[in-house]
Amino acid sequence: MTTPATDQSTLPPGASLRGWLDHAEREGRLAVAKPGADLRFGVAGIANRLDGTATSFFPRPSGHDVPVVSGLLSQRAWMAEAIGVGESELISAFSRATANPVPSVEVSDAPCQEVVEPEVDLERTLPIPTHNEHDSGSYITAGLLIARQRSTGRQNVSIHRLQVSSPTTLGALILPRHTMAFFAEGEAQGDDLDVAIVIGVDPLTLMSSQAIVELGQDELEISGALRGAPLEVTRCTTNDVRVPADAEIVIEGRLVAHRREPEGPFGEFPQYYGERAERHVIEVDAITHRKDPIFHTIVGGAREHLLLGGIPREASFLAHLRRSFSCVKDLHLAMGGVCRYHLYVQVDSPQPGEVTNVILGAMATHYDIKHVTVVDADVDVHDPQEVEWAVATRFQADRDLVRVDASQGSKLDPSTDGGVGSKLGFDATVPPGSPEMTYLRIRVPGEDDVDLDQVLQQAGTGWREQKGSES
Ligand code: MN
Repeated sequence: MTTPATDQSTLPPGASLRGWLDHAEREGRLAVAKPGADLRFGVAGIANRLDGTATSFFPRPSGHDVPVVSGLLSQRAWMAEAIGVGESELISAFSRATANPVPSVEVSDAPCQEVVEPEVDLERTLPIPTHNEHDSGSYITAGLLIARQRSTGRQNVSIHRLQVSSPTTLGALILPRHTMAFFAEGEAQGDDLDVAIVIGVDPLTLMSSQAIVELGQDELEISGALRGAPLEVTRCTTNDVRVPADAEIVIEGRLVAHRREPEGPFGEFPQYYGERAERHVIEVDAITHRKDPIFHTIVGGAREHLLLGGIPREASFLAHLRRSFSCVKDLHLAMGGVCRYHLYVQVDSPQPGEVTNVILGAMATHYDIKHVTVVDADVDVHDPQEVEWAVATRFQADRDLVRVDASQGSKLDPSTDGGVGSKLGFDATVPPGSPEMTYLRIRVPGEDDVDLDQVLQQAGTGWREQKGSES
């Protein structure tokens, strides 16, 4: 089943993890720590200090042979670079890939299986960090959980926080989406769900794992679309799950039917701790890896955590809203809303009443969406200060507020009642029929065309020599 290797030179920079680290190094944004950073808080602390400015690489963390890397995708611009497009095309490129998945190809000789550990012992084999102050212990945070339904062979990819509960078991937070649907179907008959946890994948596959697509759509096929070539996958050694062949580390196992154990607390994307509760359990059957693997960790609540969930969602939401509303031009999940809860939507010439429909449609794209703000085409939807300006000057609560109570929200939002809460929509567009001058933005003619090099004197020219009319 081995197929000829893809020509690596035609692939975008984010098509391989090691290639991406080389790229970051060339760009001057790879920070290599002194050997021996502490896996307990030390690695996470340094990674957080470098958050958004550099990818951090940790040789021999707490003396462990396997290095840790963090902050692979902590800027929107880096994500665009990984795909090989400009930042303004990031969302459309991701949308296109989501709409046109490329089936993976299977290979039998996979780097991720160069070493098959003779015995399962999670923390002996892997350098698993403890991140935030009150986390219950070490967590795998950047593992792609690939689940496969035995009956249909359909796969799902998602990232879940995974607590190391024992040398052979992981506690998992499974929220009510696709992994849960696969698992619930089998659990009724007492069946475990086969899974693989893949750590150290290329940036394109990492982003693909967060796409919002239909149940049964294997998110790995979106990675193929982003690469412009099929992703190579291989079968696990103890189950039928297909995993990216080039991955650094693969943990094979089962989500166990009718078993729940305590998991948490864990520092999450809303910048609070997810509480300790009885949660799903993964029994680990095997660990395979490259000869000299690299372990990727995402610090809970850091930019990589926020943006990874944010950008693929933006692409999915935009495609979804455009199907219903032709006035929708662009949208943005704001960092201040932890890239999950606050959605800004830009519209152009909406029909009377349509903005209310856009708000209701946006609230229904994903249960995480809590506050929706709609702005006109003259407002930069990617700039939170611009959006706030539109709310400040175009919104009146008695006329422009849409409120929906008792709806499904994020269970990780501490202000909800177990995940049930209210949603608000802000229509910050110019009211239809307003006199043109009332909402005309001020502007200095010619300002945008000023060439500062042409009109300014050299830096360091003193103003005192210039103030007289004689010079
Ligand atoms: Mn899915």
